[in-house]
Amino acid sequence: MTLGRFAPSPTGVLHLGNLRTALASWLSARAAGGRWLLRMEDVDGPRCRRELGEAQRRDLAALGLETDGSVVWQSDRGAVYREALERLHRAGRLYPCVCTRKDLQLLASAPHAEDGLRPYPGRCRDRAWEGFDRALRLNLPEGSVAWEDLLMGRQRDDPAALTGDPLLFRRDGCFAYHLAVVVDDGAQGVTEVVRGGDLRSVTATQLRLQEALGLARPAYAHLGLVVAPEGGRLGKRAGALGLEALTARGIPIPQILGWLGWSLGCLASPQACRADELVQAFDWARVPPGEVRVPEAWT
Ligand code: GLU
Repeated sequence: MTLGRFAPSPTGVLHLGNLRTALASWLSARAAGGRWLLRMEDVDGPRCRRELGEAQRRDLAALGLETDGSVVWQSDRGAVYREALERLHRAGRLYPCVCTRKDLQLLASAPHAEDGLRPYPGRCRDRAWEGFDRALRLNLPEGSVAWEDLLMGRQRDDPAALTGDPLLFRRDGCFAYHLAVVVDDGAQGVTEVVRGGDLRSVTATQLRLQEALGLARPAYAHLGLVVAPEGGRLGKRAGALGLEALTARGIPIPQILGWLGWSLGCLASPQACRADELVQAFDWARVPPGEVRVPEAWT
């Protein structure tokens, strides 16, 4: 049984790119007769807010993307992440890291490369264990990792070159994105991870962490990003491309769904529709793998 999930961070409004990811993930699960979960990835301290998560949930419901089961909030799951860290420690896979707070914040808070993720050079690798009062990193084995991406085909990456040893725990008690995402996908039995192409580069690191925890590997699909009409990152314009802002500007939800469905290869042209009308036509083989440009009139 396919078990898909959408896992936004409640740090802002879901823009068209996020909504497209949510729709693709929902369509893939529903087309396979499977289930679909919503998980709020709110481990990232003060940037995450419950009310933003609630608003994201309302947007998904307004699109007709109904979820199965109750919403999981990662901030409620500290004990589970702690247990996973203890397991990794017993397996000799963790080491304390005393690099500066500023570096650690950059490395811990951002799943996206352009937000400051960069390979950790392994400076603290040989430090002796000092308990859970220290920041903790996973000791990555040498070598590359391969996986079959549902959209991008065969992928092969060297996680050491892309992220270095990932930070899993911050000294201030925060669990890092990599740990929470891998532990939860495993604990929830997720079989299919659909997410933005900006997270492709951290997949190999997460696969290594999955191996270290003995978790099953889900299928991955990394979608091309939604970009500005002239190409390039949406940047500040993303804020104006949320559901509320678009509908307030007179673009009704069925029209937004039609555009999203068309961009995912379900419709020949972007005509107004409901989400459930797209299920039958959804097929990964028809999803264009590249970037999608937002209609000029919507920006
Ligand atoms: N929480 C991450 C984000 O909002 C997504 C994680 C994932 O889908 O694996 O970018």
